[in-house]
Amino acid sequence: MYIYRVGVVGAGTMGSQIAQVISVAGIPVVITDVSRATAERGLERVRRIYQARVDKGKMTSEQLEEKMLLVSAADGFAALKDVDLVIEAVSEDLRLKQHLFRELDAACSPGAILASNTSALSISALGSVTKRPTKVLGLHFFNPAYAMPLVEVIPGLGTDPQTIDTVVGFAESIRKAPIVVKECAGFLVNRLLMPYLNEAIVSLQEGAASLKQIDQDLTAFGMPVGPFTLLDTLGLDICGEVARILHKSYGPRMAPAPLLEAMVKAGRLGVKTSRGFYEYNLSQPREPEQTVEQLIQAIWQETGPQRTRWTQARPLLAMVNEAVLTLQEGIASARDIDLAMVAGTGFPQDKEGPLHYADRIGIEQVLHELEEFSQTLGTRFWPAPLLRRMVDAGFTGRDAGRGFFMY
Ligand code: NAD
Repeated sequence: MYIYRVGVVGAGTMGSQIAQVISVAGIPVVITDVSRATAERGLERVRRIYQARVDKGKMTSEQLEEKMLLVSAADGFAALKDVDLVIEAVSEDLRLKQHLFRELDAACSPGAILASNTSALSISALGSVTKRPTKVLGLHFFNPAYAMPLVEVIPGLGTDPQTIDTVVGFAESIRKAPIVVKECAGFLVNRLLMPYLNEAIVSLQEGAASLKQIDQDLTAFGMPVGPFTLLDTLGLDICGEVARILHKSYGPRMAPAPLLEAMVKAGRLGVKTSRGFYEYNLSQPREPEQTVEQLIQAIWQETGPQRTRWTQARPLLAMVNEAVLTLQEGIASARDIDLAMVAGTGFPQDKEGPLHYADRIGIEQVLHELEEFSQTLGTRFWPAPLLRRMVDAGFTGRDAGRGFFMY
């Protein structure tokens, strides 16, 4: 099935980026929101994304106008009756999304595919409220969608293979790199990224290293930005919510760092509130606030200073171990896991992703360090059983010619 026309529901940050990405590939797209006025604000956002490209000399004003002809705004779902694919990008609220999926099911043609851009909600739970669960799936773009090549395609329990093939083909046609991910909390990228970010916060909270040192060490490793810069950019409220969902699903190993929760409570949400782990726009007058240091001190009053040892292996191996667990569970292939982390999070290209990285260090070494961390830092580092099997079988990584990959 070919996708000739797309509907986007929700004209906010992601909805407008997604509409732009679709129109740039020459496919007509209609945006809807709670009212015509909000949908039109989405249209303006699309225009601004194009305008930035014009300003950089990447396209002409005439090309901008041509592309804008492909994007329209509407209120109500009547405008979606002849689209082949709907991408829902409304606020992250299961009840709201289920309500909309019911309405979309009634309004759209029986052949249309209904996709959700949800970051963490159950795709199966969305499919279950429709009469077409075979045609419902997750299509997860990353922010900013115009710059991030990766999309995760997440079938629910009822999704049929033809729907997956169509959406993978569609994602390729809009020049994205789709990977199919088995449904699990956080899908693939957020599930692997969060333990890495959380371990950076735990390290800071325990006084293992300063914020700057942690960021510096990980950028020196090759990450595009350090974990605290990334947390501030993503928004600590959003990260806290993702952490909460992962904790609920995976249990104690994903317990959010108390400092993350304290930051959210104190209103230090990152760039959007001008203060997070770092301070932004210092020229603006601001309310008195609790500093990160004060929040750490308050935690220490309960736990006592811990002064654990810092090494960049802490966040990196937290990510590697989670990557091995997802591989074990069949969430994605080793190749796709590495591709996703390079394309979706900027894991250094020369290191080719967390599993290639583990192969390079050597699986015995990874296992050894995880065991040590598990004893000294906490059982969240309990090694994925597959690592021990690999060591026993001689799949010890690049030097042995075989590990997660063959060399
Ligand atoms: P946003 O708040 O910027 O936009 C949400 C839009 O949904 C708003 O325009 C709102 O008016 C609209 N909306 C709310 N109720 C509606 C209804 N009943 N009918 C139609 N429209 C309605 O949110 P966002 O950041 O764009 O996130 C949207 C989705 O994308 C969420 O599921 C989020 O988890 C996911 N997501 C967000 C990011 C990100 O970085 N922001 C990244 C990946 C995925």
